[in-house]
Amino acid sequence: MKPDLLRMKEVALIYLDRSGGLQKFVNACKLYNDSKQSYAIFRFPILINPSDIIELDATLGNYILHKPVKATQIFQSVCFTAVKTLSLIQQLQTEAQMSIVLKLTHLPSLPSYIFSLCKFPFDYTSQRFYMAEGIVVAMSTVTKYTQGARFVCCDENCAFSEGFQYIRVHTPGATESATVRNNFVCTLCTSPLREDMKYRVLGDKQIIEIVDAKAISAFQGFSSSKTPFRFQSFTVFLRDELTNKMEIGNRYKVIGIPVCMPSCIQITLCLEANSIHLCNLTGPSQISEKFKYLLSLTSKSCWRFTALLANSFASQVLPPGINNTLKLVIFALFFNKQILSPFCRMTVYTLYLALCKEQCCYCNCSNFLFCF
Ligand SMILES: [Zn+2]
Repeated sequence: MKPDLLRMKEVALIYLDRSGGLQKFVNACKLYNDSKQSYAIFRFPILINPSDIIELDATLGNYILHKPVKATQIFQSVCFTAVKTLSLIQQLQTEAQMSIVLKLTHLPSLPSYIFSLCKFPFDYTSQRFYMAEGIVVAMSTVTKYTQGARFVCCDENCAFSEGFQYIRVHTPGATESATVRNNFVCTLCTSPLREDMKYRVLGDKQIIEIVDAKAISAFQGFSSSKTPFRFQSFTVFLRDELTNKMEIGNRYKVIGIPVCMPSCIQITLCLEANSIHLCNLTGPSQISEKFKYLLSLTSKSCWRFTALLANSFASQVLPPGINNTLKLVIFALFFNKQILSPFCRMTVYTLYLALCKEQCCYCNCSNFLFCF
């Protein structure tokens, strides 16, 4: 074994021990061992803090951030040795049966880790982690996908016609056919492999559409009533414990591995999520003096400031049709507060009717709400 690889395995074990991950792993093994069910695949999500790993060993830290598949193999080997040494799971036979999923707590706050669709050329073939920030605009229902499957050699005389040598598990970005299909061959005798269906493991999958947060900022205030438009979104795949963790309209930071998915004649760039974090946005830190002055001028009325803002800015930021509804709501507030005399109410009602025609009945201007 290369000294580097041995060193990285040592560090992985030290990290697991110090972070409490080893104890969680042992507990998870106990659950598998106590179960009466027979398993082909044993899945273990492991929480990884890249900063802590980099402090222990820069090479392993670099593997986790830039070569996650190889890093996963290192943890898989360490965990398999632990299971065998401590006799944690009696059923477990081969290392291939260990499905280790590294879950990252965060990524370094550096531009090279930001998933940006504005940057050219795209270099998202390296299968490493990026962080995207965006708002969820659509989501699918939760469906099933093949998390793992067991294959055996068709030739009964071959040593691999039984046992757990051929275990295939889903890796980030892989399609269903990469995990299960019917043209795999035995590496020992080149006979075709067949799937042992009773060991197939299904997981949950959900597809999310996200609009980049920067696109929202760029188009803030833009309104076009004539030409309907939609923001360009990109697809995020959520699997297993991440499904149903996102809500439409919320803003999230998603750590994941970019995937190029072939669709018809095009290649679509997607992101397979590794971890998601809800963004808690605070309002603007400073409000301009003019705005504060406006608020003080209108403070005698409970509705005037809001109405003024709605009249000035709502048409630019609201989708077509909503602006009129907003103005109607403000009218409705008039009535409820009973701040108007019966005569004025009649006037407002006349204006209300005019609003339905989108025109002021007094002077034909479009700002009839503030005309009187
Ligand atoms: Zn064979």
